[in-house]
Amino acid sequence: MIKVMKFGGTSVGSVDAMLRTADIIKREPASKVVVVSAMSGVTNGLIGILRESEHKADASLRQLAQRHLETARATMGEAEFAGYAPLLQQRVDELRDRLRAYHQAPRGHEKKVLYDTVSSWGERLSSLTMAHILRSQGCDAVAMTSEEAGIVATGSPGNGTADLYSTSVNLKARVLPLLGRGRTPVITGFYGIDATGRPLTFGRGGSDYSGSVVGNGLDADMIEIWTDVDGFMTADPRVVANAITLEEMDYNEAAELAYFGAKVLHPRTIEPARKKCVQVWVRNTFNPEGKGTKIHKIRSPAMNMLRSVAVKRDLSIVKVYSGEIAYQPGLISKLLDSITANGLTTYAVSTSLSTLAVVVPQEHVAEVVERLKELKDEVEKVHVKEGVSLVCAVGDGMLGSCGVSAKVFATVAEAGANVELISEGASDVALNFVVSNERAVAVVKLLHERYIGERYEAVPE
Ligand code: ADP
Ligand code: ASP
Ligand code: MG
Repeated sequence: MIKVMKFGGTSVGSVDAMLRTADIIKREPASKVVVVSAMSGVTNGLIGILRESEHKADASLRQLAQRHLETARATMGEAEFAGYAPLLQQRVDELRDRLRAYHQAPRGHEKKVLYDTVSSWGERLSSLTMAHILRSQGCDAVAMTSEEAGIVATGSPGNGTADLYSTSVNLKARVLPLLGRGRTPVITGFYGIDATGRPLTFGRGGSDYSGSVVGNGLDADMIEIWTDVDGFMTADPRVVANAITLEEMDYNEAAELAYFGAKVLHPRTIEPARKKCVQVWVRNTFNPEGKGTKIHKIRSPAMNMLRSVAVKRDLSIVKVYSGEIAYQPGLISKLLDSITANGLTTYAVSTSLSTLAVVVPQEHVAEVVERLKELKDEVEKVHVKEGVSLVCAVGDGMLGSCGVSAKVFATVAEAGANVELISEGASDVALNFVVSNERAVAVVKLLHERYIGERYEAVPE
């Protein structure tokens, strides 16, 4: 049995967390491949360093090295530390070189690549640290970068996609033999390697996706996502205090919720696992006795109308007006091509006779409008509504049962929110709609109270 165990930033974020994580890994009897995020705060720190002057950045890099060295000193024996410290220093020096190259690069693609490279660096430090902690506790761990493991990626900086086939070939050649010898690889999450051999990140929170990609590549039996909550919950516990941990979910439900804001999983985590039918478990490093959430192909039906609610904030609705769009062959796809250029993600699309409405992240609205202006022969007017959130309600039979949407929308009205756009019917399990940022939390709380809350009970086996 092969198990992939991915540990997030908080699970490797302190001496205590590192020791807990090491314990969980050691207690696992299966052949295991560990994937780690950077220590919590490190990726944000690196992005901050990119904005600093070179002089200030030097001091920040020393602090970064210091944090890892102090963690290592408190978690590993003297001999192991002596081997670790120069390797860490070497990685920090390499980071300093990349940072210098970033500052010297002219604006453009090269600068973006170097920005991505620097932001990916925290995982190299955490995986090295974790591997040495494990070794000092008698576990034959080996730190591996994504380069060494052969995680191949394509796409633009900050928005990479794993090449599952090439990655699988590489992992089977480079990682499987280690497992055969009883070793435990500790691989960097968050990034793969592009065609030129340079790092390409999978977007913020991307180590979950790395875990799934490794699970897919090795035909693993199970992927565990170890984090700081008991599992996938009925809502973000930071928004809904009495959110409940779900025992199991279907791949589709988890994927929709992750895409629409449930931060517990990176939006692209499910697909590589689903492709090979690998179970995904979400578990709590700080409560390893908890059962966690099992995400797999089929699950038992739930008792309640809704299973979980997520919200994606700070979006905008871009409405494009053009006479009889519906009767102009190819126009909708032309408009969508223009809107989604540069790999931009859209969260909902709706059409009428003369309008196309698309929901996009607010931070990208200016570039979308700029591109649409270039289509002046086709586009009559563009209207933007900023400051909206997309609520995603997932449940059984969203399409099949009568009256589900009526109930959901009555509750939305009761929460004092106006529905700005609806996307229904596209997904079998989710109902998505747009409300103002101001009312989004109230809507999520009331939906949870009415249709999930206390009444949730798992179906008996
Ligand atoms: P990690 O560093 O382990 O990757 P993240 O911070 O990325 O952890 O994700 C875990 C966080 O996701 C939780 O602390 C919780 O606040 C948030 N979250 C959002 N939606 C959900 C949900 N439906 N279930 C569980 N956690 C959620
Ligand atoms: N360290 C990266 C981030 O903070 C990836 C991850 O944690 O999943 O976004
Ligand atoms: Mg995460």
